[in-house]
Amino acid sequence: MPNSPNQIIRPDILSLTTYHVPPSNGMVKLDAMENPYFLPQELRKEIAKITADAPINRYPDANASSLKVALKKSLIIPSGMNVMLGNGSDEIIQIIALASAKSGAVLMSVEPAFVMFRMIATFAGMHYVGIPLKSDFSLDLEVMLHAIAEYQPAVIFIAYPNNPTGNLFDETAVLKVIESAPGLVVIDEAYHIFANASFMDKLTCYPNLLLMRTLSKLGLAGLRLGLLIGRPEWLTQLEKLRLPYNVGVITQLLAEKVLQYPDIFLQQASAIKAERAVMSKCLSQLDGVEIFPSDANFILFRVNKAYQVYEGLRQHGILIKNLDGSHSLLKNCLRVTIGTPDEDAQFLEALKNLIRI
Ligand SMILES: *Cc1c(COP(=O)(O)O)cnc(C)c1O
Repeated sequence: MPNSPNQIIRPDILSLTTYHVPPSNGMVKLDAMENPYFLPQELRKEIAKITADAPINRYPDANASSLKVALKKSLIIPSGMNVMLGNGSDEIIQIIALASAKSGAVLMSVEPAFVMFRMIATFAGMHYVGIPLKSDFSLDLEVMLHAIAEYQPAVIFIAYPNNPTGNLFDETAVLKVIESAPGLVVIDEAYHIFANASFMDKLTCYPNLLLMRTLSKLGLAGLRLGLLIGRPEWLTQLEKLRLPYNVGVITQLLAEKVLQYPDIFLQQASAIKAERAVMSKCLSQLDGVEIFPSDANFILFRVNKAYQVYEGLRQHGILIKNLDGSHSLLKNCLRVTIGTPDEDAQFLEALKNLIRI
């Protein structure tokens, strides 16, 4: 058939499988690093009003000028740096990959890492190279530096803290990577609010460094807003690929509004961190569970039979992420997002019964 998809669609796309998001209706949803808390009632009323009055018959402000001013104020961005906005940070990863996808160009990350790095490299026609972490999920600096010298990556993505492992890499090791890289290094700080570390203050020192943030893990995953912070030299080029209306009217208005209340998000994050400590303690006391330290809003842990535990939890109406089979270092590993104390108690109770099997 001359005009069938098989003839027209790129072979590397034909061989992909669609990213699977499992159904979660009515379930205790601890699979996607969402913040379990709502905004306060008063703020939700304001949001209702803003939404009702929003000019959704018009295209959004293509430069999101007003929102950017609010973001620059609340983020303490070093002077001289610009901000680019994405429809989630996933879109920013895509823009960076599209812009740097010269023929044969390499996008590098560590493994296991955020799966979007690999997927988007493929979409953009880049070669993906994933450098395995050590078995404790720390950065293998020696191997990484060799790989950088060998592959000369156009872009390196490092999530800090890392997903799905939850840990922060050694800062000195990451700085060595930045210094040795022949191209861009993007530090993805999606979980920044749960960790006491950032490369924000390093932006002025390294001309090849960009920093990515998102409102998703903060408690606004549904709004879809990601940010890239860096030098105008880079951002001016990347802006050319950003579709003009990528951030909608409602997202711009609501993000600007909620940024006026940073304490709400800091309080929710500190509740989540306190709950993370409780969960870590409870998990570590269970026989047959090995847990890994986390600076994010989720915990990676290993059991004896990951699939049985995952499936058993699912049948109890609790959805977490099964990572068994996704990478050799993640054998029998599961990832649970920190929920409310009640959700976490339900999870722990069900888990206790399942690991006895
Ligand atoms: C969740 C996550 C993102 C967020 O993506 P958005 O598109 O902004 O929701 C980015 N990077 C990492 C490492 C993540 O885990």
